[in-house]
Amino acid sequence: MIDGKAVAAGVRERVAGEVAELVAEHGVKPGLATVLVGDDPASAIYVRRKREACAEAGIESFHHEPPADVAENELASLLARLNADDAVHGILLQLPVPRHIDADAMTLTIDPDKDVDGLHPVNAGRLMQGRDGMVPCTPAGVIELLDASETELAGAHAVVIGRSNLVGKPLVQLLLARNATVTTCHSRTRDLAEVCRQADVLVAAVGMPGLVGVEMVREGATVIDVGTNRTDAGLVGDVDFEAVRHHARALTPVPGGVGPMTIAMLLANTVKAARRQLERR
Ligand code: NAP
Repeated sequence: MIDGKAVAAGVRERVAGEVAELVAEHGVKPGLATVLVGDDPASAIYVRRKREACAEAGIESFHHEPPADVAENELASLLARLNADDAVHGILLQLPVPRHIDADAMTLTIDPDKDVDGLHPVNAGRLMQGRDGMVPCTPAGVIELLDASETELAGAHAVVIGRSNLVGKPLVQLLLARNATVTTCHSRTRDLAEVCRQADVLVAAVGMPGLVGVEMVREGATVIDVGTNRTDAGLVGDVDFEAVRHHARALTPVPGGVGPMTIAMLLANTVKAARRQLERR
């Protein structure tokens, strides 16, 4: 079992060390601005956890909570002010935003070098071209878990189920950059089980409990379950954990696998953003 909590704790410790170094050597304390529009309770919990994690790592957090009916141009002005603020190295606009706000347009407003979610098309382009940029947190966390479980990626066949801009597509690029041979599957993939059985590394990022059964997993494969599904039985992933656990070489649980990595990588991205901005100045 790949212990995401332990790997995330390691990343957070590393980040805290890097923060201390930035403060000591450059007098710069990395800063993350969180923007939570409206009062969605789930989003409020996510943002609170992110801010607590920042505090623990020594990262300054600047919180903004515009009302649910904030005008789009007002939100854009707030983001522009944060772009111009030298104390703010990373900007996180918590999604989803209320319907009257165009989330894509708001993402475009954020300075790509402060885009700690890695969702700006400039960062997607940098990733696609193998250039240094801000990488979305969840797929970056998946790579950390693969490394922690000593999974060989070069030359391995990696199959990613899911092709969202948030998880699937950036993960495919990260795996390619590590010289894996990558297959992307999605809702139109024909004979998903057959494709998945060929995987040395199988990643499920769909949002469908029980999608990946033991018949879809090659013996000895490494399986990463990104899926997060709230069911009557509690939080479960996309992989039939009990069936697959003795079949795979390594497997992430849900909860306690990919989940804890996302916040850890957000902290890592904030420090990376602070470094980039130091270099830019
Ligand atoms: P998404 O935008 O809904 O994308 C889901 C993907 O799954 C799509 O590409 C879709 O294909 C594909 N898909 C749907 N049904 C399928 C099927 N029957 N067979 C194969 N592929 C199928 O979701 P997301 O944002 O990428 O998130 C995916 C999952 O990860 C969700 O459960 C989410 O909650 C979870 N998640 C967890 C974390 C974390 O921190 N642990 C972070 C982000 C997301 P099409 O493109 O053809 O529609």
